[in-house]
Amino acid sequence: MLDTSDLLNLDSLFSAEELNLRNDVRAFVDSSIRPHIAEWYENAVFPQEIIRELARLGLLGMHLKGYGCPGRSAIEYGLAAMELEAGDSGLRTFVSVQGSLAMSAIHKHGSELQKNRLLPPMAAGEVVGCFGLTEPTAGSDPGGMQTFARREGDAWILNGSKRWIGLASIAQIAIIWAMTDDGVRGFIVPTDTPGFNATPIESKLSMRASIQCDIELNDVLLPAESILPGARGLRGPFECLNEARYGIIWGAMGAARDSYLTVLEYSQQRLQFDKPLASYQLTQEKLVNMALEINKGMLLALQIGRLKESGQLKPHQISMGKLNNCREAIKICRDARAMLGGNGITLDYAPFRHANNLESVRTYEGTDEIHTLILGNHITGIPAFR
Ligand SMILES: Cc1cc2nc3c(=O)[nH]c(=O)nc-3n(C[C@H](O)[C@H](O)[C@H](O)COP(=O)(O)OP(=O)(O)OC[C@H]3O[C@@H](n4cnc5c(N)ncnc54)[C@H](O)[C@@H]3O)c2cc1C
Repeated sequence: MLDTSDLLNLDSLFSAEELNLRNDVRAFVDSSIRPHIAEWYENAVFPQEIIRELARLGLLGMHLKGYGCPGRSAIEYGLAAMELEAGDSGLRTFVSVQGSLAMSAIHKHGSELQKNRLLPPMAAGEVVGCFGLTEPTAGSDPGGMQTFARREGDAWILNGSKRWIGLASIAQIAIIWAMTDDGVRGFIVPTDTPGFNATPIESKLSMRASIQCDIELNDVLLPAESILPGARGLRGPFECLNEARYGIIWGAMGAARDSYLTVLEYSQQRLQFDKPLASYQLTQEKLVNMALEINKGMLLALQIGRLKESGQLKPHQISMGKLNNCREAIKICRDARAMLGGNGITLDYAPFRHANNLESVRTYEGTDEIHTLILGNHITGIPAFR
């Protein structure tokens, strides 16, 4: 079917290399994800066999340089996130947790030894990582974390709990953020360390083809060299969150585009009152509004990507992209669901699945409200977080 989502010939703004990568990821999603995703979603399965395929495509830690990482550009990273999320947000979430959170934490804040030991097997998909910041009682305000790391001689002892931690039950290493006498610090915790327990959260209505866990840390004993030497205070995890937020700006538009194209095709084929649904003005207005927001969201993503590539990207700009593109994408997916009528509530069509996934996407990496407060602070100079 003709892809009429690109009304502005935005493709002309990308290089041949960028488009090649996008097309490779799109082809992978079409061949390896689309045929199975409804079943994975229904049965709450994260298909671990695709990890090596994602590594083969160069998508793990793809924007990181050196240490066996692919070293691709910010735009390429964004385009890959968009294509993965056109398949399912859970897939993009895997790549975000592994690359933007766990690998970025090591790349930004780790010692040379930590980087050399862990980044090459993580880029190859041989080692999976997770990123533990959120706690049962500390979400939007991670400064309220209770997890504590106590120094005892040459060792650290961690106690506490984490919630909603992506991949924790299949990961080999966890980046755990904990309070210390010296403020918040990050630790690399092998998940087979005694006292580390991860339990998948099962009763989810969103992100079903993806794993999130509760983690319990009971006297987890770590050698001194487990600490990330470069991360001090909440700046450490926040710098990683910004990497993941950047991917979401693009990814959300992938889910939106997929929903738009699904309902465009459906409305051209489905007859009611003797004519295709697409022939009614009310339907056309909905389709046009979707296409407008997809094009605007893409332009936003592209400008933010160019700012990132030139090293000028500011946190409030990431908030602008994350807030706008999640908000518009979820609206597009919900409208597409409604335009599919009764068929739209089944897994035979993607929009409802995308909309449900986007409930998570708008919540993690800073909720709509938190990004509004970041922007409000930027615009007025008055922090209104508390
Ligand atoms: C699918 C999924 C995957 C996740 N993956 C990870 C992961 O891998 N690692 C990780 O560490 N965390 C992860 N998270 C956790 C996620 O980052 C948190 O859920 C998120 O930060 C919100 O925290 P909370 O759920 O505790 O909600 P709360 O912070 O309790 O917020 C509840 C509501 O209150 C609002 N609110 C909070 N503060 C204010 C305020 N000052 N003013 C107005 N409104 C406010 C929020 O916007 C929200 O609507 C994941 C979450 C989900 C759902």
